[in-house]
Amino acid sequence: VCPTGALTAKSEVEQAWKAILDPSKTVVFQIAPAVRVALGEEFGLSAGSAVTGKVVAALKKLGADKVFDTLFAADLTTIEESMEFISRLEKGDKLPLFTSCCPAWVKYCEQAHADLLANISSCRSPQQMFGSLVKKHYAQVIGKEPGEVVCVSVMPCTAKKFEATRPEFTTGGVRDVDIVLTTVELAQMIKEAGIVFNELEPAGFDNPLGMGSGGALIFGASGGVMESVVRFVSGYTSGAEIGRIDFYPVRGMQGLKEAEVEVNGQKLKLAVVNGIANAEKLVQRIKSGEAGYHAVEVMACPGGCIGGGGQPEVNDTAARVQRLKTIYNLDTMEQVHKAQDNIYVNHIINQWLNGTGSATVHHELHTRYVPRRRITGKPIDITELSEDVPV
Ligand code: SF4
Repeated sequence: VCPTGALTAKSEVEQAWKAILDPSKTVVFQIAPAVRVALGEEFGLSAGSAVTGKVVAALKKLGADKVFDTLFAADLTTIEESMEFISRLEKGDKLPLFTSCCPAWVKYCEQAHADLLANISSCRSPQQMFGSLVKKHYAQVIGKEPGEVVCVSVMPCTAKKFEATRPEFTTGGVRDVDIVLTTVELAQMIKEAGIVFNELEPAGFDNPLGMGSGGALIFGASGGVMESVVRFVSGYTSGAEIGRIDFYPVRGMQGLKEAEVEVNGQKLKLAVVNGIANAEKLVQRIKSGEAGYHAVEVMACPGGCIGGGGQPEVNDTAARVQRLKTIYNLDTMEQVHKAQDNIYVNHIINQWLNGTGSATVHHELHTRYVPRRRITGKPIDITELSEDVPV
């Protein structure tokens, strides 16, 4: 079974059209980092073309009420995951910390390595943090019930479709993220609407959920989450303005990258892995004691989300390399480099979430994981677990 869901995922184009055409709904989009460096390929542009403004313009032409940026939520993820990492380092507990942004990796772990679930960060992925903010706060700000706001994600990813259906991301029968479109599905909608994508004038994201840092942008590439955490932790622990951090050892297409970084006098060992087969090998080495790390980033797709199963030309390695280059080029052009410098995120943490470390933050931005059966992927009721029950 493909852990990313690329072979079985169903198109949600029809649901997206239905929502857009329903006048009683407010339709809010979010766009993942890797989409903006791949969508252009569906319209004949060269691999890795940066089309951020055109994607926003296309969504507005399609009928989106608001177009926000998943980068906003990725900054939130960096802050929450970094704080969790710092806390675990202080306690010397549940290390290594495994990242939780990739739902294919999380589900694989639930099915194959339930003993590692406590090590996975409790942070929701950026997609789900965003959905939570929209349904629990943004709806209220615009005077709507959560069920009147339709949250649509545009993702490079088929596993995100499954993630959005997890029961822990539904409140009172209303899902945080209602519809997940892949990059290719969005291209289909643009074509169906007769929009000449290449001639669109770029448009800007809406606020207050439309701004992200360069650290959020690089979430689209393998190593990006780790680098973003390093950018945060280095600044947080030094307590000083640290300027730019470009952490090259975790960049690139290699299946496994290892790095060390010194933070507050402590040498931290980090690993970044992409591809489930590579992750499995690394997990075995960690379990046998052959390898030891403080933090491990895992992405299921080759090169990370830029190589996701919902992107154009899924098996084109050269295209992935070009997308990767563009992600890092865009990062150099961002005015804001680190999550902690995103003033919109800091404002929302204080205004909507009662400040860092609050019960609201814990309840709305974090989650839990469940052991699942290996073959069917169905959750295991732990009360039925005994030595006789095969999982
Ligand atoms: Fe989705 Fe990215 Fe994980 Fe691939 S690496 S399954 S695109 S989250």
